[in-house]
Amino acid sequence: MKNLPCTNINLTRITENSRQMKAKCSSLGIELTGVVKGGAGDIRIAEAFLAGGIKKLGDSRLKNIRAFKKAGLEAEYLLLRLPHPGLADEVVELADVSLNSELTTLQALGEAARARNRHHKSIIMIDLGDLREGVLPAEISDFMNSARQISGIEIIGLGTNVGCYGGVLPTPENTRELIELKEQLEADLSAELEVISGGNTATTNLLDQGKMPAGVNHLRVGEGILQGTDITNQREIPGFNQHNITLSAAIIELKRKPSVPRGTLGYDAFGQKPSFVDKGKRLRAILAVGRQDVRIDGLKPCLAGAEIIGASSDHLLLDVTETDVDLTVGDTLDFELDYGGMLSALTSPYLARNYLE
Ligand SMILES: *Cc1c(COP(=O)(O)O)cnc(C)c1O
Repeated sequence: MKNLPCTNINLTRITENSRQMKAKCSSLGIELTGVVKGGAGDIRIAEAFLAGGIKKLGDSRLKNIRAFKKAGLEAEYLLLRLPHPGLADEVVELADVSLNSELTTLQALGEAARARNRHHKSIIMIDLGDLREGVLPAEISDFMNSARQISGIEIIGLGTNVGCYGGVLPTPENTRELIELKEQLEADLSAELEVISGGNTATTNLLDQGKMPAGVNHLRVGEGILQGTDITNQREIPGFNQHNITLSAAIIELKRKPSVPRGTLGYDAFGQKPSFVDKGKRLRAILAVGRQDVRIDGLKPCLAGAEIIGASSDHLLLDVTETDVDLTVGDTLDFELDYGGMLSALTSPYLARNYLE
């Protein structure tokens, strides 16, 4: 019997997406860092990216990069999350390049790099309005003047990230702003900024629309490769494989029950006051998976007619009245995962991993 509940990870489909994303970027002279953080340190997922011809891997966590290196995965490693200055030595040890927006951190990185007799490469992040990480455009000139003084640090370019906190969409206009800043800084500093890291999966929308401003020569893409989707623009990437990572769980109870609870109603296990519509008796399945395993909002049943009606820590309740298959206790049901669902599923220590090749 399959170990349940589990995620099903289709490595071949992830490799195909890696190859396609690489080709899509290469055709416009854009380098690609494959972002594997969604896999939560999964070596086989990172290998699937490399098998698709990707040579640069990005992750937010040093722990994951350490695991990939220990497993012998050869790649250029980009640390995506701004590092803590106290971890500077580990950053210099493990990451070839990091994204930065704080002078204190760059100073610590410079010191760590000098102690190891090397240079650490840095891409300076600029906030173009999404309000997550990055130096504000008005402050970038002063910032660069100071950053360039730090020995041991080699500033290789500028980057930006949109579509994460503020939900700001990448447009030709805000992406072009990055290139204008680069040109202005290059003139002011009389130095070359080689890398223009234009964004994440959301920015691939500009590629597909043929609207990527010239000058962007690097992208950092995770979701688009793992899931073939672009949640910020609410789209599936044309020609890419979707649902490469799914979830399976088993039915442990299957009964006809009323659709409205009996008794005095208080709050549910999560402090919410549930409400119910009386639909009469319904055929309900309880599955052995719950909120402790996965973000329930990120699940969509693959079985037509099945509807999620609730969940507690370790039980998932489905109304299966409208399905047209004969279900029995012990059957396995599959679910599609959105980005949040995938992230939570792959981070859960309770879900087994079933790799498909
Ligand atoms: C997570 C992350 C990415 C990749 O984002 P996707 O939407 O998965 O493509 C790129 N850049 C940074 C800085 C990130 O944190």
